[in-house]
Amino acid sequence: MVPIFDMHADIIMDILRREDISDENSVLLRFKQHIDRMKRGVVQGAVLVDCRMAGESAETKNFEEFIAISKILRSHQDESYLIATSSEEFDNSIRDGRWVGILCYEGLRAANGNLLWLKRLYKEAGLRIAMLTHNDSNAFGTGAADPNGNPGSKNPLGLTEAGQKAVELMNEMGILIDLSHASPMTRRDVLSYSKKPVMLSHTSSAEVYDNGRNLSDKDIREIAEHGGLIGCMTSPAALADIRDRANHTLERYMHHLRHMIDVAGEDHVGLGLHFCEYLYTQEEYPPVEGLEDASKAGVILKEISKWGLSTYQIEKIAYRNFARVFKEATD
Ligand SMILES: [Zn+2]
Repeated sequence: MVPIFDMHADIIMDILRREDISDENSVLLRFKQHIDRMKRGVVQGAVLVDCRMAGESAETKNFEEFIAISKILRSHQDESYLIATSSEEFDNSIRDGRWVGILCYEGLRAANGNLLWLKRLYKEAGLRIAMLTHNDSNAFGTGAADPNGNPGSKNPLGLTEAGQKAVELMNEMGILIDLSHASPMTRRDVLSYSKKPVMLSHTSSAEVYDNGRNLSDKDIREIAEHGGLIGCMTSPAALADIRDRANHTLERYMHHLRHMIDVAGEDHVGLGLHFCEYLYTQEEYPPVEGLEDASKAGVILKEISKWGLSTYQIEKIAYRNFARVFKEATD
């Protein structure tokens, strides 16, 4: 059976919202519940994300909590799971069927441009993937919701000087840059400064449904031309209008995925599933029919197999493309 590696799961955020991190057992119990659900959907690993979203407070104590939770997860890893900090560990885990997580921080506003935080998170938390911005702008650059981040704006702004230095440092240390919430200008700047490939872990196709953050075909081609990777997400708000329940379906997800592969090519698309049912109410995030949570993810591979792809081609979408980009960005 082909395993899936999910390029974006907000698991750390969920644990931090629900559990007292001084209680190791409750942290581990919650973590293992997430793993068990994913395993039922042949999801054999995931990028484990903590996030400070636009509109939320972001303080350095949030980084300290991320470090603390990472220490708990890493000090208890056993044959059932591994928190990978290198591509070799990642590849071995996939080969051996050991569940694998990679730690990611989404939105580094709390660093306030201070690169020492990137160094600390790399060393002390095992951070290997990061997004400089969420939808809002910060000392590193403009986020997806900032009008100044559009090239056509009066005063277009992308990466700041601190942001450029952060890109250099991330390339040097081996942190994969995720541009999911970057503005178009920040994306453009990172693509020109970064010597390593980047990813957009969770997005969808603006050609199928334009929600303001989904990628146009031109954007998709640009990421592919730089050797990067885009993950197709299951969130209802990315698939169709939030009121358009008829299109919150597996079929619609497959339409986005197919289009992204047609445009980017089979080497540049992965699965950034971004299941959110554990974070929101059904009113906020209506369930996607056939893809209600990670335990259903295996159906995506069944649907892909109807497209006449070889097993190797399916493996590329399921995890091999991620493995390549992670290796190139972190080795
Ligand atoms: Zn996100």
